[in-house]
Order: sequence, then structure tokens, then C-alpha cells
Amino acid sequence: MSTETTPAWLRCYRCWSQDLEVQVHYEGIHKIDPDTGERADVVDELQEAVVQCLECMHDQPHLGFLDGRVQPVEDRWERMIAGTPWVASVTVTVDAEEVETCSGPEAGDALSYAAFGDHGTREFFTHVRFHKHEEDKIVVHLLVELYARSLDEATDVLETAARGFLTITSLAEESRPPAATGDERH
Ligand SMILES: [Zn+2]
Repeated sequence: MSTETTPAWLRCYRCWSQDLEVQVHYEGIHKIDPDTGERADVVDELQEAVVQCLECMHDQPHLGFLDGRVQPVEDRWERMIAGTPWVASVTVTVDAEEVETCSGPEAGDALSYAAFGDHGTREFFTHVRFHKHEEDKIVVHLLVELYARSLDEATDVLETAARGFLTITSLAEESRPPAATGDERH
């Protein structure tokens, strides 16, 4: 297969490697065909898939798995493939009831989710530095790494993802991790 026809999105967003793997978890309830005993119409189904890069081992939130093939997440892949990493120091103030738990091993994920929703747990690298209770609010202090093509875009992505009042203390561009060897020109 020629790399000329390889879609731009079908690669790791961090190291651009094309050595990818998908883990699919499928749960389905199907009717049984009374004549053949075959699995027939779907009553209910749930499929979860995670694409991972075998070069750098990172998950690929710009890729989904649908109809038996990996597909790009439309409003995300260009930004992540063409972008560079940005690191932000932020606080997000959310209603305390939005936070499932703020102590124990699940606290980091719960606070990241309360602050940035799915972006916080799936796309961004988030590190919760600490959190403060203020009456019925929780102020979550985080370091966030995300991919974007410009300062404006990085700001916009943070603002769109935030589920509470967002304050950006600092936002700086980092250098992209080195590209995986041998995947660019053949
Ligand atoms: Zn990679």
C-alpha cells in the first residue's frame, strides 16, 4: 500500500506513527432466529473502542471505531494532527454536586471530568494539583496539556470544554514529541 493514499488522520497525533491498534469491547443483546438459531436483530448493543499507538503507547482520542473501521473524529483530528502541545495552568470553578468524589484514587478523574467533561478524561492530559471547597463550589486547580494549532485555538478549546467558570493563569506552547522513525517517506 502506498503512503500517498494514506489519510492524514490515520496516524498517532503525538508521534505520527501509523503503528496503531484498536481495543474493542462489545456487548450485545440479540434476538435468536427461531429457524436457524443464529444471532438476529439487535435488541441492545454497546461498543467501546480505544485506539492506541504502539510506538508511544498513547491513546488516540481523534480516532473512533465505527462500522468495522477506524474513522476520524471530525471536529478534532485536524487540530490534533497539525497542532502542537500546549500546556495550561488553569482553575475551573464548578458546583460541588458536579463532582462525584474529591478524595481517594478516583478523585483525579472525577475532578478532571467535573472541570472539562469528556475532554478532561479522554483528550487532555490533566493533572489536578489541588482543589478548594468554597461554600457549594469547588475550585479545581489543574495543569492541562492539549493539542492546538494556535494560541487562540488552544484558548477556545479550553473555554468550550470547561464545564464551569474558567481562569487561565498561563498557556504556553511546548515542542512536539519527535516523530516516529520511518513513517514519513517510503
Ligand atoms: Zn505515538
